[in-house]
Parts: sequence; structure tokens; C-alpha cells
Amino acid sequence: MKTGSMNKLASKASKASTRIRTPRDRRGVRSDKPITIPNQGIRYNDPTVCDSCGAMYTRKSWRKDHPVTHSMLEQVEWAKCPACRQKSQEIAYGRVVIRGEFPAGRLTAIQRRIRNVESRATHTQPENSVVSMDKVDGGLDVLTTSQQLAHRIVNELKKAFGGRAIYRWSDADGALYARWSG
Ligand SMILES: [Zn+2]
Repeated sequence: MKTGSMNKLASKASKASTRIRTPRDRRGVRSDKPITIPNQGIRYNDPTVCDSCGAMYTRKSWRKDHPVTHSMLEQVEWAKCPACRQKSQEIAYGRVVIRGEFPAGRLTAIQRRIRNVESRATHTQPENSVVSMDKVDGGLDVLTTSQQLAHRIVNELKKAFGGRAIYRWSDADGALYARWSG
């Protein structure tokens, strides 16, 4: 995700932390975990290295595949990248709700897929990551740091296992709610 769109989202949602509304989401799931968005954009010096995950910010983007040299590390700033900040504050822009009557082992396969999608996404854009993945009755609840990653996860699950996907934007904070039923 570009920083610009993140700032826009952040300012759009700055009024209050909010809950994603999930009217169709029943079956006693933990879908009411609040989703909050930071109310201000963060400014990073170029270069900055994330002290949690090692991603480097330079030329306006965070990446994990920048070559790191000794002299570069002499002059970097250390800070938390947006993904690690979000993770530490349990902030999410995407919620993936996974439900179904799964055969044995399927849930594990689904979790593995999700981690695969995440690691591919994180390689070039560390700001794409999974904040949490919780086993709940009937499936999994996944929070992601970007709408894009929520979409990619559902897309991948649909490709791998079929099923049905429903997407909805939250009016309140621009978060993406994605539900996949397998
Ligand atoms: Zn980080």
C-alpha cells in the first residue's frame, strides 16, 4: 500500500476508533474485536530501519530486500515500520473471516496458505502482514495490516479450495471486511 493512501485512510478514520460492522456474521464468532486506525501519518527519515523486522525505508518505500551495507547502517535511523507499529497496537485495515465445515487437516492447510501469501507479500512490502490469526468456532479470524493483503488471502483461498467470497468496505474506517466460506 502506498503511504499516501494510508494517510488518507488514517485521516478519514481519525475521528474515533471504530468497530467494523458485521451484520451477517453470526455463529457466535469473535467478530467484534475493535479495529482501530492510527490518527496521524508517520514521518520517517530516509533511510530508516525497522528495529523489529529489519525492513528498510528508503526512497519512499519499505522493503525487506534492500541490500544493507555497513556504512548504510552507520547512518540509518531505527524505528518501527508501519506494520510492526500496527501489530504492536493490534491495528488492522483488513479482516478476513473464514468459515466452513472443513474436513480434517483443512484448517491447517488454510493457515499454511495464509502464511505463504503473507510471506510473499511481506518480501516486497513489509507493511503487508498478518496481525493475528485466531482459531474460532467454525474457522479462523484473521486481521491484516492492509486491505490488499486481506483481499489476496481470500483470493488465494478461493483459488485453492473454491468456496465463496464476500467483500465489504467499512464506511467508518475504510477497512476491508472479507468473508470466505469453504
Ligand atoms: Zn517492521
